[in-house]
Amino acid sequence: MLIAIDGPAGAGKSTVARAVADALGFTYLDSGAMYRCVALGELRGAEDPLAAQIDLGGGRVTLDGEDVTEAIRTPEVSERASQVAARPEVRGHLVALQRAMVRDGDYVAEGRDIGTVVAPDAELKVFLTASPEERARRRAAQLGVEPEQVLREQAERDTRDATRAHSPLQPASDALRVDTTGLGIDEVVARIARLVQAVR
Ligand code: C5P
Repeated sequence: MLIAIDGPAGAGKSTVARAVADALGFTYLDSGAMYRCVALGELRGAEDPLAAQIDLGGGRVTLDGEDVTEAIRTPEVSERASQVAARPEVRGHLVALQRAMVRDGDYVAEGRDIGTVVAPDAELKVFLTASPEERARRRAAQLGVEPEQVLREQAERDTRDATRAHSPLQPASDALRVDTTGLGIDEVVARIARLVQAVR
């Protein structure tokens, strides 16, 4: 079974997807981490960043055997990731890897295009949203920086993700929207768990 959780940065996707996967005993797939790995490779001047081996097992992210779990979370990598994600050859490569990963077993896959491109036949598609201010507040708290700065950079990345020609961020027509503004993580997870029960 596959549960697709898509939505913009800061909507709570990672926290929610991880918690839902834990609650159901499913495997969690963080597709954004893969775009971040390609971005990190580029920033480090790798000759062919798409040739690198990306591993997401055990809650850690490794790139050609090096643990880059923290290194891919810097603002510089976030910025570059949203740029590389607009390139068709990058998307084609990573989407193929993601499809192969979720082919067998039970997954909660999180990203921007899981329900629309990677797995349009997912049993449950959730589109998580929250107000821009709330999303910026959450990211700022994680990064230890000012919300105003995050809000500006977030708006740029949101626009780029939503307007790119290739796989723009948009909800699948059959996705269920969950607005997490003002909701605690437990409430969101419980709501999604109920949706899962309904389709099981
Ligand atoms: O989710 P996260 O912020 O880690 O993703 C980093 C970047 O990767 C996003 O800004 C987005 O541009 C891109 N991305 C994507 N498709 C996905 C996951 C992430 O385009 N499925």
